[in-house]
Amino acid sequence: MRDDARDNAAKTVAIIGAGPVGLAAAAHAVERGLRPIVLEAGGKVGHAVRQWSHVRMFSPWRYNIDRASERLLRDAGWSSPDPSHHPTGGELAQHYLEPLALRTELAQHIETGARVLSIARSGFDKVKTAGREHAPFEIRCRNGKGAMTVLADAVVDASGTWFSPNPAGANGLEATGEAEHAGRIAYGMPDVLGRDRRRYAGKTVAVLGSGHSAVGTIIDLKRLQTEQPETQIIWLLRGTDPQKAFGGGTGDQLAARGELGLAFAAIVRGGGVRVEAGFRLSHIAEASSRLRLGAGSACCGRHVLADELVVATGFRPDLAVLREVRSALDPALECPPALAPLIDPNLHSCGTVRPHGARELAQPEPDLYVAGMKSYGRAPTFLMLTGYEQVRSIMADIAGDRAAAERVELVLPETGVCSAPSPASAPLTSPARASGCCGGPAPTDQSACCRADEDAKARGRPGCGCGV
Ligand SMILES: Cc1cc2nc3c(=O)[nH]c(=O)nc-3n(C[C@H](O)[C@H](O)[C@H](O)COP(=O)(O)OP(=O)(O)OC[C@H]3O[C@@H](n4cnc5c(N)ncnc54)[C@H](O)[C@@H]3O)c2cc1C
Repeated sequence: MRDDARDNAAKTVAIIGAGPVGLAAAAHAVERGLRPIVLEAGGKVGHAVRQWSHVRMFSPWRYNIDRASERLLRDAGWSSPDPSHHPTGGELAQHYLEPLALRTELAQHIETGARVLSIARSGFDKVKTAGREHAPFEIRCRNGKGAMTVLADAVVDASGTWFSPNPAGANGLEATGEAEHAGRIAYGMPDVLGRDRRRYAGKTVAVLGSGHSAVGTIIDLKRLQTEQPETQIIWLLRGTDPQKAFGGGTGDQLAARGELGLAFAAIVRGGGVRVEAGFRLSHIAEASSRLRLGAGSACCGRHVLADELVVATGFRPDLAVLREVRSALDPALECPPALAPLIDPNLHSCGTVRPHGARELAQPEPDLYVAGMKSYGRAPTFLMLTGYEQVRSIMADIAGDRAAAERVELVLPETGVCSAPSPASAPLTSPARASGCCGGPAPTDQSACCRADEDAKARGRPGCGCGV
């Protein structure tokens, strides 16, 4: 139970992860007179973002900067980048996260090279109830010098999901043989035109997945193929309809994302990629010094041969750090339960998730919140802007400002990334193209992600059905 009489200046908030959302959380905490301690496993802030530094973002700068962070930066003499420019991950780290961490007041609140291993209530194991809400959190970390413990009044877990990619198996487990062939498997988005060029040039590369990471990697491989024609590309997708990966096209309000889908569609329709739809990878072996990627039975099922495999099947949260605190997560998506109906990829694929905050993100453990990319669990549609609103609300809640915590201060763009009716085949005048298929965030319904979803639920259907 929060003690309203306590001075906020004495309240320490441990923030796990110095990604864009963790740093935004720290900026809002400072504005509220709270004392943040940001614990970052990597040697620099934006450690996860730096892993995809070569990827151009689909949202321009205007959607990538948190307002409280911007205020701190402006006080430090920073001038904001062109709001219409789409930065790469590297530019996001260099022109925004780094100055925020090094040139503002946040510098004194960030500890890099500090990996959080576990969290508990001081003196209380998970089972013991009476009085636990009065005990501080004890956060166990490891840094270059060894183990350390941080005490805090509240914890915001903004540790993202980048470092726990989904494995290749269609059943969510590692494919048989995946670990044994790890040297020829990459996860996420390898830099095929830069750092990793030599690994992929002239090879037969299979890319597994149908989200933005798979699409981006295939587009880059196609460029590599232009320079090194022996490079062969195989696209392995679990679904049976490749068109779903083509995205919102010209109807996508995030133009860069729409363009990516259009470019990808052109490549696939042009025949530059061997498409293996309905391919549910189950085992990986070696045959004639190549990877034998199999779906179905190991002996006689369908298979393809490749030199390299890129697994781009999304990410999942690492829940180990939360083991000793009381958390409630959706059984399928591993996100806070209140978010699940808004972001469930079984129901929709839109990015127009209604802005939300402390109420949806709070855990049964008082003063514990999961925010940022990790708050979406296994769902892929997280937007930074949504994360900034999350931590604004959370810090208001921790500071005891209930009205500000409940208020919604973000108006999301109608991103319109849904694929029903299939944007690639929809007529140019269809509502899907004119307004983004979801028609914007749901104005009233707390369990609906967007207008289309709200309408569908009012008619007794489970959701708007976009993307399925
Ligand atoms: C390739 C790619 C492109 C994207 N493009 C866009 C886009 O255009 N627009 C958009 O809005 N969103 C985009 N996103 C989605 C999302 O906004 C980003 O992933 C964003 O970086 C999420 O921010 P975050 O702070 O929640 O997590 P992260 O950026 O992942 O940061 C988490 C941090 O926590 C640290 N950490 C992890 N575990 C621990 C631990 N145990 N202890 C301490 N520290 C830990 C990590 O090192 C990392 O620095 C993109 C995502 C990807 C992967």
